[in-house]
Amino acid sequence: MDCYICSDEGVTTASKGLCPECSQFVCGSPSKRSDGRYHGAQCKCSCKKFVCKLDMKDHSDDHGNSTEECFPGFVIDVGAAVLEATHNLLMREGADLRDRAAAAGEDFLIAVGPGPKALRQVLSGTNVDLLEERSIGDRTSFSIAPEKLTFGHLKRLAALAARAISNVDYLYDLVASGLELPMTQRRSLMAILALHADPGKQEPSPRVTKFVPDESVRQSLSRKLPDPSFLADITPAPYFERGADEARWFLQLGRFEGA
Ligand SMILES: [Zn+2]
Ligand SMILES: [Zn+2]
Ligand SMILES: [Zn+2]
Repeated sequence: MDCYICSDEGVTTASKGLCPECSQFVCGSPSKRSDGRYHGAQCKCSCKKFVCKLDMKDHSDDHGNSTEECFPGFVIDVGAAVLEATHNLLMREGADLRDRAAAAGEDFLIAVGPGPKALRQVLSGTNVDLLEERSIGDRTSFSIAPEKLTFGHLKRLAALAARAISNVDYLYDLVASGLELPMTQRRSLMAILALHADPGKQEPSPRVTKFVPDESVRQSLSRKLPDPSFLADITPAPYFERGADEARWFLQLGRFEGA
C-alpha cells in the first residue's frame, strides 16, 4: 500500500506501517523520496505504534508526553531538516530553497508542535496568510506559503527546531559519544545545547539507551546540521506551553507580538 500523505502530494511511496489513529498506511524512515521527507514513525513508549505525522502531536498528548518523548528520532530528523533549510534560505534566496524551507517547516509545525489543533485555534479569525489550511482526506493539515516566509519566520522556526532537538533526552549522549558524527555536526549539537541549556536537563535520562536513534537518523543528522555559527544568530525560543502559545509566538500574535 502507498503512503496516504505522499499520495496527497502526488508522490507514490510504499508505506512502512498502518497508523492506528487514522487507519491509513504511511511511509517511514529511511525516506524513499528524493526530498528526504517521510511521514510516520514508531512511538518509543510501550505502545510501539507506528503513527503518521498528522497524529503524532495528539498521540503524544494522549500519553501525557511531548512529541520529543514519543518520537525522538523523527523530531531530530525533522528539526535538523528545518535548521538546514532555514540556514540555506537565510544565506541565499531561491525558489527551490523557499519550497524546501516551507516543506520542512510544515512537517515540523504539524508533527512536533504546535500541531494542527493549536494552529487551527490560533489562526481562526486572524488574517495571517502564511499558513493555509488544507485537507488530506478527511484530516486537517496546513501548508506554508513559501513566498510568505520572512526572515523573522525563518529565525523563529530555527529556534523552535533547535529547542525541540535540545529536548530530546539522548542528545547529551549523542554529543558525548560523537556517534560517527563529523566534528562540525558535533559542534552544531553543542551549540544547540548551549542555546537552550535547561538546568533541569543536564543529565541524560535513564531511558537514554532505549532511545538511541536508528542509523538512518544519525546519517541524516550528519548531513543536515548547519554550521554552528548559524546558531549563534538565532534568538532562543522563550519557554512557553506547547500548542497555542507556541503558535502565537511563531506567528507573532497577541502577547508574543514583537517578542
Ligand atoms: Zn509519505
Ligand atoms: Zn494517522
Ligand atoms: Zn504511543
